Amino acid sequence: MVKEVVGMQLTNLRGTNCAIMKLSRYPVPSTVRVFDEDVEIFPYSIDDNGILMFTVEQYEVLRADKALDMKADWRYSDTQFVSLEFIVEYEELKIDEAQRPEFDTDKGILESTRDLRSFTTMLDNRKKYVSYYPHRKLNEFLIWGRYRLDEIGQVYNVLPEGFEPPKNFREVQASNNDTKGDSVKLPRYGDTCPICCKPFQINDLINANFIEYEVVSSQVFHVSCFQTYISSFMFNKIVSGVIDKVYNSWDQAVVEEIPREQLESSYHFWKDVPFWYKVTTRRGDILVGPADYHYIFIEWQKNFASFDPKEIFDNDSSFKCQADGRRSVEATSAEEAIMYLQAVHDCVEKKYAPPSGT
Ligand SMILES: [Zn+2]
Repeated sequence: MVKEVVGMQLTNLRGTNCAIMKLSRYPVPSTVRVFDEDVEIFPYSIDDNGILMFTVEQYEVLRADKALDMKADWRYSDTQFVSLEFIVEYEELKIDEAQRPEFDTDKGILESTRDLRSFTTMLDNRKKYVSYYPHRKLNEFLIWGRYRLDEIGQVYNVLPEGFEPPKNFREVQASNNDTKGDSVKLPRYGDTCPICCKPFQINDLINANFIEYEVVSSQVFHVSCFQTYISSFMFNKIVSGVIDKVYNSWDQAVVEEIPREQLESSYHFWKDVPFWYKVTTRRGDILVGPADYHYIFIEWQKNFASFDPKEIFDNDSSFKCQADGRRSVEATSAEEAIMYLQAVHDCVEKKYAPPSGT
């Protein structure tokens, strides 16, 4: 029996707004019991990853209760930060060593690739195995020459550069780190694309027809659906925001699409994004585009008026200054992108404003 204190947080899990609790081990779902002091509370679901799911309403009621308790205590004047922690008891899910060939041999993994349901189960079992036997290592596999299943149950992209993909499955040397790229979020069985709403199939994985972009959604998209959507997202959320909120008509900002091929090769390109945007302002040019699965990249070009990012953003470490005078930042949401653009705009305009009192 495992007994631990677990925090609850609001999130969006596969398209559903909910509150979740992540346990340190995989639970046997029927054995899970959650307690708020002496009162038992019940998750509405426990997903295949062993994550406990609660409704947003449940979360709000629990939070209000705790906030009220804190208010009643003279030591706490500020209930803004309410930590929602609960005691969880459960039996840990045992993975039988005899099951191991299903998820840790060439044959087992090959069989799991017949459909997305089996494939998802295979990946889950790898994670469950290392969770149950933390000191044992899995074999590593390379799938479709593209994904590496590593020894602790994670999935990585294989770096294409200088790497010859083998025809199909083969074990790779754990020491061969050339093959380890970024960790990749594969669509799971039951996941649907938020644009066309069709469920993902194993062929989407085989053909690499999926893409994640957390700025827009925690869900995974089909590549073509994403390409259709990203232009309208960038335009509606960022570019029109720049024009409407940050730069008014006096600033005379102009926006144009820049096809990916026309951008300098020194950028880290994201091949599935058709184009970026250039905003031309009275103070110089700004380049804006979706980048790297998690960010909106903003770069004030060499010709853009001088400003000191350190002054504006209090040593924000995501800010980078190039030797040639370009300054860039990575925003994780549309709101954050607009905030950065607004702050730089205001700082620069202050310098150009006529001195007060004249
Ligand atoms: Zn789609």
